[in-house]
Amino acid sequence: AFTSTTVPEAPEDPLFSVMVAFRNDSSEKKIDLSIGAYRDNQEKVWILPVVKKATATTAMSPDYNHEYLPIIGLARFIKAAQRVCLGNSSDVIKDNRITSLQTISGTGALHLGALFLSKFYRPDGSNNTPTVYMSSPTWSNHPQIFKLAGLPTATYRYFNASTRSLDFDGMLTDLAAAPPKSIILLHACAHNPTGIDPNPRQWEQIATIMAERHHFAFFDSAYQGFASGSLDRDAIALRLFASYGLEMCIAQSFAKNCGIYGQRVGCFHFITSPATEADTLETVTRIGSQLTALQRACISNPPAYGAHVVSLILNTPDLFEEWEEDLRVMSGRIMHMRQQLRIKLEALGTPGSWHHITEQIGMFSYTGLTTDQCLQMREMHIYMPLNGRISMAGLNLKNLDYFVKSMDRVVR
Ligand code: PMP
Repeated sequence: AFTSTTVPEAPEDPLFSVMVAFRNDSSEKKIDLSIGAYRDNQEKVWILPVVKKATATTAMSPDYNHEYLPIIGLARFIKAAQRVCLGNSSDVIKDNRITSLQTISGTGALHLGALFLSKFYRPDGSNNTPTVYMSSPTWSNHPQIFKLAGLPTATYRYFNASTRSLDFDGMLTDLAAAPPKSIILLHACAHNPTGIDPNPRQWEQIATIMAERHHFAFFDSAYQGFASGSLDRDAIALRLFASYGLEMCIAQSFAKNCGIYGQRVGCFHFITSPATEADTLETVTRIGSQLTALQRACISNPPAYGAHVVSLILNTPDLFEEWEEDLRVMSGRIMHMRQQLRIKLEALGTPGSWHHITEQIGMFSYTGLTTDQCLQMREMHIYMPLNGRISMAGLNLKNLDYFVKSMDRVVR
């Protein structure tokens, strides 16, 4: 029988416990490199100037209307979000081969997609749910999200620890060896935690194998525009797969690229393959209706305020341009920190090679520090998860020298 005494304690989320340890450290030198949230050069949370403008408009005034959104979310936000990931001239949008719902940020989009696939994706006609293949390593929340939805998970090779680069051959081999019609989880850009993305040519090879094996691509797009500073460049994988006419889905987050983490603004997109107009309409309607039913049971309807803010930015040309400028500010500062970190380590003659720091992209750098070295860093008041991943946004011109010196000490 269920009693409260039978419930075992769940392990703490390792990343959040690093954050708590940081908060409890009273040293002036302390540096938080754990959580993936942007900070400016003064270590401050940066409210994007465009977000300040958007929230200052009348729509966001005290008279703001706090009514529910429809189950699927805010229509004009959803339409604009589709254009952000697929581009203004996308055939998918022109042909209405897409059905989308606003979600609780990227995590909620992953959940909705996982639940939908778990319930309806039966590629071999049997009752077996297909396995979801994810990169090794991947964002630590991925396996638990898909498992919670009842989908078995497995991994494909991705990271070569000795060269600190993409294990491309391993990846292709594993994708080819997975049973046909498997679900393959891909990071659209700025792979978390490694910071290593396939190049455009490699993406083509991945898409080709996926098409040959009839795999289903599930894209996680949490960093579009934040990685390179260009929304288009960070969407090359998404748009390439879409141009192949592959059936796929996208979990899209606006947390990082708008700096509105806590507002939980995201979108789930399901894209169907080219078909006649009538068949497309029929398929998209069926899929949309099931997604709507799942959304109703999970959250009833998504939160409104953040979606209004993002919608205003996406649908107002002046604000959209300003957003692109803000993206360049964030990505530019991070790239500058990467260069400085590498230059300073090389100048100190810190043993090892540090190319990977500038070759990686996005919020994170996989430093290559071992668990033991990460623990030693913690003794020096530097907080990072034990896999050696650092959030680049936690570094700035004030703390970089101390970080480099500490890293030099633990590596020697
Ligand atoms: N996917 C990846 C790879 C992430 O790094 C994150 C955020 N850390 C997310 C999804 C989801 O973020 P959110 O739910 O805040 O949009």
